[in-house]
Amino acid sequence: MTALIIHGGAGARRERNYDAEIVHMRQVVEAMKVRLDAGDSALDVAVAAVVMLEDSGLYVAGKGASPNLAGAYELDASIMDGSTRRAGSVAALQGFRNPVVAARAVMDRTPHVMLVGEGAALFAHDQALEMIADEAAWFTGAGKGEDNHPPGGLSHGTVGCCVLDSQGRLAAATSTAGVFGKMPGRVGDTPIPAAGTWADAGAAASCTGQGEYFIRVAAAAQVAWRVAAGQSLADATQTVIDEIGVMGGDGGLIALDAQGNIAAPFNSQGMKHAWLTPDGDIGVEVFRD
Ligand code: ASP
Repeated sequence: MTALIIHGGAGARRERNYDAEIVHMRQVVEAMKVRLDAGDSALDVAVAAVVMLEDSGLYVAGKGASPNLAGAYELDASIMDGSTRRAGSVAALQGFRNPVVAARAVMDRTPHVMLVGEGAALFAHDQALEMIADEAAWFTGAGKGEDNHPPGGLSHGTVGCCVLDSQGRLAAATSTAGVFGKMPGRVGDTPIPAAGTWADAGAAASCTGQGEYFIRVAAAAQVAWRVAAGQSLADATQTVIDEIGVMGGDGGLIALDAQGNIAAPFNSQGMKHAWLTPDGDIGVEVFRD
């Protein structure tokens, strides 16, 4: 049994057309289905899915990133392997094409979980990860100019993925340029295991929204802890989003459990997401009702 769910951010606005993202998300899920059917690990599939999302330029992550208030592109990403509880993360990384690959390298090749800023860039350089030659030419600034980022950073174009592989292993990965109008050095939930990303033996989750709120409720880990305590995935995820809503926060998350159940609650207008069920069905959704 395998299952997968991806997201392209919870900042979707009803007045905007998402046909390109819908087509792309389906392509990502179809490509990952092939890999899962071939026996690839949840970890490898999570990275591959997020790389496709980062490289598309359609979301506010990777190529689609927008700069911070000082004009710098500071990108965040994290990954977690549910079967081993290993995690890797980079924050405020500048100059590299795929932050999720850097996060994986931190997990695999350092004794640490998180590297930030210059240290993260030095490490990525040492690992010969692909650099961006010309930032102005590379970044597309997906969502730039849309009326979805009032002061406070109400734009969510983060990408993420949760996977259950054929050996029952879960993994999650998330990548972002953060919220629009962020201060230099600002770090949101995305690169913080437990906040924006989590995977253990029972559940995996990847979040999108106003990261400050997701940090304050340990959103991704809370989903898994609730599942471990016996709550259904649907109830656990909805409870976390409701708690964020009560605090005044906005966003959504994707999650799946070891039984292949999938959940994707959000309290924003929409959340770009797509999934593969254990039965092999593929679905894509941006808005509900
Ligand atoms: N959660 C991300 C952050 O706060 C933003 C997003 O989901 O788009 O950095």
